[in-house]
Amino acid sequence: MSRSYFIHTFGCQMNESDSQRMGEALARAGWEPTAVPERADLVLVNTCSIREKAEDKLFSALGRYRLLKTQRGTKIGVAGCVAQQEKERLLRRAPFVDFVLGPDHLEKVPELALTGGVETEFLDTEHYLFPQADPESSRGKATAFVTAMKGCDNVCSFCVVPYTRGREVSRPYAEVVREVAGLVAVGVREVTLIGQNVNSYAGGSSFADLIRRVAAVPGLLRIRFTTSHPMDLSSDLVRCFGEVAQLMPHFHLPVQHGADSVLARMRRKYTIAEYEGRIAALPPEVALTSDVICGFPGETEDEHRQNLEFLRRTPYDNLFSFVYSPRPHTGAILKLEEWGEVPRPTAIRRLDEVQALQMARTLERHRERVGETVEVLVEDAGFGRSRENWTVHFAGDAGIGDLVRVRVESASLVALRGIQTGIADRAPRIDPPPKRRLAVVSA
Ligand code: SAM
Ligand code: SF4
Repeated sequence: MSRSYFIHTFGCQMNESDSQRMGEALARAGWEPTAVPERADLVLVNTCSIREKAEDKLFSALGRYRLLKTQRGTKIGVAGCVAQQEKERLLRRAPFVDFVLGPDHLEKVPELALTGGVETEFLDTEHYLFPQADPESSRGKATAFVTAMKGCDNVCSFCVVPYTRGREVSRPYAEVVREVAGLVAVGVREVTLIGQNVNSYAGGSSFADLIRRVAAVPGLLRIRFTTSHPMDLSSDLVRCFGEVAQLMPHFHLPVQHGADSVLARMRRKYTIAEYEGRIAALPPEVALTSDVICGFPGETEDEHRQNLEFLRRTPYDNLFSFVYSPRPHTGAILKLEEWGEVPRPTAIRRLDEVQALQMARTLERHRERVGETVEVLVEDAGFGRSRENWTVHFAGDAGIGDLVRVRVESASLVALRGIQTGIADRAPRIDPPPKRRLAVVSA
C-alpha cells in the first residue's frame, strides 16, 4: 500500500524550492503526495526563522498536526531553518515530532521518515552536492526556481541566515544550465535563480556570466534572480540588464535602512551614498524593489527621519518592510542592551509611516500604467506577471506559458487589471503533467 505525504511550507523562495526537492525525494522512494493533511501518513513542516512571528506560526501549525498524530498515527517531520537552529531542543519542546532535518539534508527525508531522528550538520564544502531538481514536477508550469547557491558569508547583525543556512557554496554553472534546459524541455518559460546572496555567486563563473550562460538555453524567455547584496553588485551585472534580452528589468536590492549610522550597526558594509551610486548606474527601465527594517536597536527619531527621506527620494517600485525581530546568535541581540531596544509601539508607528509612504508611491506607479500595454507571461488562467514583476489580472483566453499583450484598464496597490490584446509568443505544446503532483502549501 502506498504511503502519502503533505508538505507545509513557510518562508522564502529557498524554502519553496527545498520543499519541492523533498517532495521529489519522497516520490522517488514511493511516497504519493496528497493535498489534504488529514489523509497524509507524513506531514512535513518546512520552517522559517527569519523573524520570531515565523517561528510562532510553526508551533501553532504543529499544534494542529499533533491532533492528526493522536487520531491516525500521522508521522510529523520538521525541516528548514527552525529545525537547523533548534535541533534537539525542538524535539524537547514538541516531543510528538518524529524527525528534524536541516536544509543540507533534503535527500534524507524518506530515510528519516522511517527511522526518526535529527540530521542537521552543515555540509559546507565545495564537495556539497546540490539536490538535483526533477523537471517533471515543473511540467505544465510557466515559471520555476533554480538554486544557484546556498548559505551566506555575510554577518549582518540582524540576520539569522548564516546560522541556519551555513557558509556560501555555489553550484557549478554547468549544473545550473543543465537544470534550466531540463525545465525548458517540460515547458517552463521563466526561471528565477535563487540564493540568499545570489549575486556573490562563484560556481566557476561570475554571476553575470552565469546569467549569460542561462540566457543561451534555447527556448527560455525570461530570467529573474533573488536576493542580492548591494556590496556584490558588479558593473558587469549592471551591464547584463542592458545586454541580456531575457533578463527581466526588475531588481530586488535590499537597502535595509536609509541612515548610515544604522547601516553601520547592521554591518551592511555600504553607505547610503554608495548604494545610491550603484542604483544610479542601472538602466532607467529597471523596476527596483527593496527591504527595510524599522525599529532596529538604537534607532533614533533622527535616524528614522533619514530613513523616510531616503525612501522619499528613491524611486522604489515596491518595498517589503518589517519591524526588527531579535534573533538568536546574531550581533544585534548581543548589543541590545548597549544600543537600546526600540519600544514596540514606536517601531510599529515607524513601520506605519514607512508603509504609508511606499504604498502611495506604489499605487502611483501602478496607476501611471493605465492605458499602456504591458507584456505578461501567463502563470494561470487570467493571471501573470509583467516584465517588471507586477501582478497582472486580465480578461482573455491565453494559456499557461503564453506571452501576451495586455492593455491596462485599472490599477490597485497590488495588481494591474486589463484586457488581452494579442499574443506575443505562444507556449509550445507540452504534454499534460503525469498523475504525480506535489502536495505543498505555502504560508
Ligand atoms: N540576503 C538578503 C539581503 O542581504 O538583503 C536578505 C534575505 S532575508 C531572508 C529577507 C529580509 O528579511 C531581509 O532583507 C530583512 O529585511 C528581513 N529580516 C532579516 N532578519 C530580520 C530581523 N531580525 N528582523 C526583521 N526583519 C528581518
Ligand atoms: Fe542575512 Fe542577507 Fe545579510 Fe546574509 S546578506 S546575513 S542573508 S541579510
